[in-house]
Amino acid sequence: IGYPLKHSISPYFQQAALEYYQLDIRYEKWETSPEELELTVKKLREPQNVGANVTVPYKETVLPLLDEVDDRANLIGAVNTIVKRNEKLMGFNTDAYGFIEALHKEGHFEPKGKQVVILGAGGAARAVSFALVQKKISSLTIINRTFERAKALADSLKSYISDASLKRRVNALSWQSLSSGKIFDHCDLVVNCTSIGTKYSSQEGQSPLSIEVIPRDILVYDLVYNPWPTPLLQLAEEAGANILGGLPMLVYQGAASFKLWTGKEAPIDIMLRRAEEALQKFG
Ligand code: NAP
Repeated sequence: IGYPLKHSISPYFQQAALEYYQLDIRYEKWETSPEELELTVKKLREPQNVGANVTVPYKETVLPLLDEVDDRANLIGAVNTIVKRNEKLMGFNTDAYGFIEALHKEGHFEPKGKQVVILGAGGAARAVSFALVQKKISSLTIINRTFERAKALADSLKSYISDASLKRRVNALSWQSLSSGKIFDHCDLVVNCTSIGTKYSSQEGQSPLSIEVIPRDILVYDLVYNPWPTPLLQLAEEAGANILGGLPMLVYQGAASFKLWTGKEAPIDIMLRRAEEALQKFG
């Protein structure tokens, strides 16, 4: 469930996982305008439906339409997975898990003790920042075009964090501060949680950072998965940084959703392969 959905590749790799277990289930795209959201969610209650993924722009607005929301999704304030259990619609967030799995398994990066800069303060940034503080990073700077949103996210993180030293080292900065390389002086990881650079969008071809401010040897992680590599990752590579794209996160979050719907371990390798193929063919 999302809007628009034309370029979503989730159906390709989710269907591959369903076929692997020969499950008689179909993963469909339900492109939904804002006026239709309530009705679409209600349709999930029909007996033949198992659950759903929720994507941009409904991850936050869908919460009040559900019967229950689990603790992690409540903390993040965003739901990307709905599961129907005993006639009830339950909301979960698997983005945080997908982000960390990809960071470990594909980025070979251990976040504990690291200094992190996040660009963006929307639903994805919320999932990423809560996941990182749970992994005991040592500092977090949140930079967003709309400063108030970055500030609000930093405040909700601070009220959640119990470690006094980390609490002091969570900050929000204005978008203008990106033009100075200073903020990256002691940074180990930069995560782009904005949609800048996304193919088929008005920001296609753009990068949130210029090459001059990207330090060598850090990890630059772009949640945008189409195109590969994104303009940001191309610049980061040129600057001598390590890079990680958003495709593994997409697959790992989808794998966690698959397990919630079916109770079965997702065939990750098959899903990853199918996602890469789909991106090459239709991306
Ligand atoms: P969202 O809630 O709509 O947030 C969008 C963010 O991008 C906001 O921080 C927004 O800033 C910023 N932004 C948009 N256009 C901008 C511009 N021209 N200049 C500067 N900032 C801009 O979306 P979301 O759910 O957080 O998703 C963000 C991105 O992550 C999307 O591209 C999405 O596809 C991707 N994502 C990937 C995965 C994955 O599995 N790989 C998972 C989740 C999300 P303002 O607050 O100022 O509007």
